[in-house]
Amino acid sequence: LTSKRLSAIADYVLEGSRLADIGSDHALLPVELVGRGTCPSAIAGEVNDGPLEAARRGIAAAGLASSIEARKGDGLEVLQPGEADTVTIAGMGGALIVSILEAGRLGGKLDGVRQLVLQPNVGEELVRAWLLEHGWHLAEESILEEDGKIYEVLHALSSAEARERSEELYGGEPLLPGLTSEEDRRLKLRMGPYLTRRPSEAFARKWSSELRKLRGIALQLERSDTEEAAARKRELAQVIDRIEEVLACTR
Ligand code: SAM
Repeated sequence: LTSKRLSAIADYVLEGSRLADIGSDHALLPVELVGRGTCPSAIAGEVNDGPLEAARRGIAAAGLASSIEARKGDGLEVLQPGEADTVTIAGMGGALIVSILEAGRLGGKLDGVRQLVLQPNVGEELVRAWLLEHGWHLAEESILEEDGKIYEVLHALSSAEARERSEELYGGEPLLPGLTSEEDRRLKLRMGPYLTRRPSEAFARKWSSELRKLRGIALQLERSDTEEAAARKRELAQVIDRIEEVLACTR
């Protein structure tokens, strides 16, 4: 794989797992994982015809048509329950990933799935919150920069003890002294319970850039003198302070 982002996703996939890659586009991930022998078989799901054709071409070109099947459909509806051990969803917004996961969960498509590897382009906190709410344990996360963009990859496991382990992950030591447990959990969902514990250049860069955006919004709010704007400004000022403090701690 030439992409650092796709490599980071592939590295989490458990040896021997049957893969379903949803929104597979060129099927790069299934081709790589079946090709290197990590996965015995894979399904590449696509909702759009162009990418579906690209997936079929990629699979055929790799000579893997007997072990990777491209299927057309919305999200996890391409799966029969029990068909996949690992689901990967990458390169979409967090809100779309959550809506795919939620529809799949309601349709029983996640029954028997052991592992999710998710790479939201934005809205990572929505994905973390969904995982926590539905008993998936965030086992690891990583952050990387490629072609001037920063990506986060979330690795989650379903297991009997998932709920307890997640309680430890989001409870436990607060990120900053003096935070209520609710504030602490919100900050961890936003910035990542693992990423906040490990200094990294990509993390520092992402949050410096987010801070610039948030300060820009705060400046806009200065122009408005409604009660609502004042409340949002106070809230935003607090968020900015906390992110700055976390950044100072992980530097
Ligand atoms: N997963 C690949 C990657 O990370 O490089 C491709 C990402 S591409 C930006 C997003 C793909 O998701 C597109 O090919 C799009 O057609 C597909 N997609 C969007 N919504 C989808 C859905 N609800 N179900 C299946 N595929 C979807």
